Amino acid sequence: PAPGTPLLSVQHAVKQFGGLRAVGDVSFELNAGEILGLIGPNGAGKSTMFNLITGVNPATSGQITFMGQDISRRSAGQIHRLGLSRTFQHVHLLPDLTLLENTMMGGYARGKAGIVRSLLHLERGEEAALQHEALRQLERVGLGAQAFTLAGNLALGQQRVLEIARALVADPTLLLLDEPAAGLRYGEKAELIILLRKLRDEGVTVLLVEHDMDLVMGLVDRLVVMNYGEKLAEGSPQQVRDNADVREAYLGV
Ligand code: ADP
Ligand code: MG
Repeated sequence: PAPGTPLLSVQHAVKQFGGLRAVGDVSFELNAGEILGLIGPNGAGKSTMFNLITGVNPATSGQITFMGQDISRRSAGQIHRLGLSRTFQHVHLLPDLTLLENTMMGGYARGKAGIVRSLLHLERGEEAALQHEALRQLERVGLGAQAFTLAGNLALGQQRVLEIARALVADPTLLLLDEPAAGLRYGEKAELIILLRKLRDEGVTVLLVEHDMDLVMGLVDRLVVMNYGEKLAEGSPQQVRDNADVREAYLGV
């Protein structure tokens, strides 16, 4: 999709967990080529919104379209195959597998049955192609030299980057990152920002849930702010920083 054209559209999304309205009538759009930040205090409904978009949980009501297709009732696998990859708030890696093997696991999306051949019943040719692609993505994120070391040996910051490489193996049009900077040290955050800018410049559209305001403000093109399941504000980092409701709800000033 051409930069600036709508890629993802969330219209009146609602998610009810019993009596709790985790997401209540939230609408926003994401354009191709931008980094959109989704921010808000703990419990605001950010991860729930991610789960609605990625098909982990179905919305109670509302409509979500991706690349012009209604994905509101699609399964997580179907949505992944359409070109949407994600990482999770908590690291989901297999510590006893190598970086390469962990990265290959992201390849099930595009028709490939799964991980390494023995686990995933890949043909030899498919496995070789997936391995090649995984190596390419590890190099892209700066982890190529460690491809054959175990994921469990990595520092947290590198584990987060490895998860991004794994998500990239599916060649996503849209990459969703849930708090990728959580627990990272200052230097690791700076490296993550450089990587995300590079990916954006290479044409990957990014939806980023983040708690760290400094990271978000210096990185994103636009922000959606959630609070108590509702959309509180939307705009450029400067507009959001100057918004009185946001300052009160989120910044506490
Ligand atoms: P955030 O990611 O912004 O911190 P969440 O989306 O994780 O917020 O949570 C929003 C609200 O929904 C919270 O009150 C949380 O406890 C609740 N919630 C999230 N997932 C579930 C679930 N599977 N079942 C019940 N309540 C949930
Ligand atoms: Mg969350």
